[in-house]
Amino acid sequence: MKALVKSRPEPGLWLSESEPVPVIGEDDVLVKVRKTGICGTDVHIYKWDPWAQKTIPVPMVVGHEYAGEIVEVGSHVRTLKVGQRVSGEGHVVGMRSRATRAGKFHLDPETRGIGVNMPGAFAEYVKVPAFNIVPLPDEIDDELGAILDPLGNAVHTALSFDLVGEDVLITGAGPIGIMAGAVARHAGARHVVITDVNPVRLDLAAKVASVTPVNVAEEDLRDVMARLKMKEGFDVGLEMSGAPPAFQQMLDVMLMGGHIAMLGIPAAPYAVDWNRIVFKMLTIKGIYGREMFETWHKMLAMLQSGLDIRPVITHRLKTADFLQGFETMARGECGKIVLDWS
Ligand code: NAD
Ligand code: ZN
Repeated sequence: MKALVKSRPEPGLWLSESEPVPVIGEDDVLVKVRKTGICGTDVHIYKWDPWAQKTIPVPMVVGHEYAGEIVEVGSHVRTLKVGQRVSGEGHVVGMRSRATRAGKFHLDPETRGIGVNMPGAFAEYVKVPAFNIVPLPDEIDDELGAILDPLGNAVHTALSFDLVGEDVLITGAGPIGIMAGAVARHAGARHVVITDVNPVRLDLAAKVASVTPVNVAEEDLRDVMARLKMKEGFDVGLEMSGAPPAFQQMLDVMLMGGHIAMLGIPAAPYAVDWNRIVFKMLTIKGIYGREMFETWHKMLAMLQSGLDIRPVITHRLKTADFLQGFETMARGECGKIVLDWS
């Protein structure tokens, strides 16, 4: 089969025409992949940065954002059928930890990632544990199905705290920050301000949702607050850049007693002025992945009830043009990029 493979421990990805089709186990299904999304994680693997070097086994098929159709089910699988259109959770959990025994699958310390620690979805076929599969309602087509993984990050983060009537600050207008803006709007926030230093991303944010884009390289957040007639600060902060200055700015403008959900992954440890957290009595919550499967339920339900994130897809490419997709991602000149495997 055709697949994008990390074939060698060096920068790049290679399109193989002769990967073996995965052999499924009794609790797995085989999915014929139709559309995939390129994730920032895939770009780290493409560039072969220090994180990728210590994490990714080579050779391996990569990719974890996908939608497709079930073409084979394992002998123990009772709830899924050949022909179903599906996406799925990319975090594969064990059943041994205290958290998973208690049904809190997203807290499993033994979590492994499809396309990160085990063969992935940038391929004509991907093997997935049946437990991870999420059937797609008819109204959610394959390209939306292929970006449910990052939408799930956005939903998990945004819905961590009550947003109704609240003023929300999102730092980082990458695809996930932009989708979080749309979710906050859908959920009933009052002001939704989103920051970045990349004008392409800020323009896209304003096209996808009714948010206030702020280029923090040019404008001060306090001036924006004055313009919006906000007196005291933001109730909820969603950190979605991983950039240390963005988090420091967020601390400056949070309301006393405010809540911050942290999704962005910093490249290295950095110093924080803890006094601002202590004296403002802020609550900070780290976010990893999606809640299994409450986030999936909420995001499908919101898509069915009018949440529109399709404009975040800025590029639709054939598999053969994958290099163009990765280079565009690396330059940050895009929203989501979807590859077509059909
Ligand atoms: P992205 O890299 O596309 O977006 C980050 C954005 O932050 C970029 O547009 C960048 O220009 C912007 N930025 C840089 N400096 C800034 C500053 N000072 N102020 C405001 N914005 C600034 O990433 P993404 O795919 O949208 O993901 C968002 C973040 O979430 C990344 O850090 C990613 O690694 C992380 N992530 C975490 C999880 C998790 O499970 N915790 C899952 C997926 C992604
Ligand atoms: Zn992803």
